[in-house]
Amino acid sequence: MKKLGIVRIGVYSLVALALAGALRFTPRLPDTDAKAADVMITQAATPAWKLRYDTLESGESLAKLLQRDGMSDESASHALRAATEDATLDPRRIPAGMPVTMKSAAADSEPSEVTLQLAIDRVVRLTRTGDTWTGKEVRLPWTTDTIIVAGTITSNLYDAVDASAPTLPASARQQLTWTIADDVYQYRIDMSRDLQPGDSFRVAAERSVAPNGAVRIGKVVASTFTLSGKTIAAVHFNSKGSSGEYYDQDGRSMRSAFLRAPLSFRRISSVFGMREHPILGIVRAHKGTDYAAAAGTPVRAIGDGVVVRKGWSNGYGNLLEIRHRNGFHSRYGHLSRFAAGIHVGSRVTQAETIAYVGSTGLATGPHLHFEILVDGVQRDPRKILAQISGDPITKSERAAFDSVRDMLLGELGQPVNGVTKLASR
Ligand SMILES: [Zn+2]
Repeated sequence: MKKLGIVRIGVYSLVALALAGALRFTPRLPDTDAKAADVMITQAATPAWKLRYDTLESGESLAKLLQRDGMSDESASHALRAATEDATLDPRRIPAGMPVTMKSAAADSEPSEVTLQLAIDRVVRLTRTGDTWTGKEVRLPWTTDTIIVAGTITSNLYDAVDASAPTLPASARQQLTWTIADDVYQYRIDMSRDLQPGDSFRVAAERSVAPNGAVRIGKVVASTFTLSGKTIAAVHFNSKGSSGEYYDQDGRSMRSAFLRAPLSFRRISSVFGMREHPILGIVRAHKGTDYAAAAGTPVRAIGDGVVVRKGWSNGYGNLLEIRHRNGFHSRYGHLSRFAAGIHVGSRVTQAETIAYVGSTGLATGPHLHFEILVDGVQRDPRKILAQISGDPITKSERAAFDSVRDMLLGELGQPVNGVTKLASR
């Protein structure tokens, strides 16, 4: 009898633990009290609810999904009516692939709750009481803060951001890298070619975290990039009088007459050590810059201008040349094709797609050959384009800009350890 008593204590504590959710296994129990243990454990291990997960297939109606998952026609149509009437669900605007969760009592085949995940932060919850369905839309708030990331270039910008922000998901790190290269610095730094080991950056960027843990990087509010000891700051400032979103430390717009590169950074497939790239089949003694990118990648006009040349030109293959103001010309070679509507005499605007990367002419792999000419002479884009800066902020906004700049750049200098929250936000 004494033995049995010990066993009972063991069973009761096991059940208590299982109910608390702390235990998920069923240890062997002595045969003597097997019956009680079975009952207890069954009771503890069987969930009171069944959950069923499904996703809406392309072209499938919600009613069809609900029926496929075992709901009766009548119940499904009542649930849908609640969704449209109580929760203003528009049945024509339900995303394909939408996750649907159905919750039913263990003993019941009809669900008592259906959750439609319309977006990361938006669900419609349908609840059944008896035969009556009611619907409710629930917003799940994102939380937003501002983070600082500081890194040093060892090979390229992707690797530097990865190393400096290991706690951000990979997609957020990529988004941050592209934002730095393509949004903040695209007029000043060619991130695929200008960087050297030892160059460094500090970036303050908005971060939003979804209820499911997904992370989105919003705008960069301030940053510094130091290349060979020279720092270019970028401060986000809402100006009424000037063009552009970012201004450097001297209050000049980061937007200028020329983009630093004819391909957006995110499109370039090789961002390091490209000058001696073995597969490019570089023309001897050529005076241009080569960008490796997939065939068909859109090529952008680096500035406003007029097309003065379009067609085949020996080693260049398909070539396009644009005349800009002040004696500048830009050339784009090895193109697979030209964009629609591009002809000699066409006016093009900065960043407009003018052609597509190819490997025509003397090229063994797809890449863009790019040249800058000033008064008919080829010049190094790194030297000639980086000198051009944008317009200064208007006088009336100068004081406001200066105080925003001082505050943001001051905060950007705070000690950083991995992904660090900006103190004031
Ligand atoms: Zn070339």
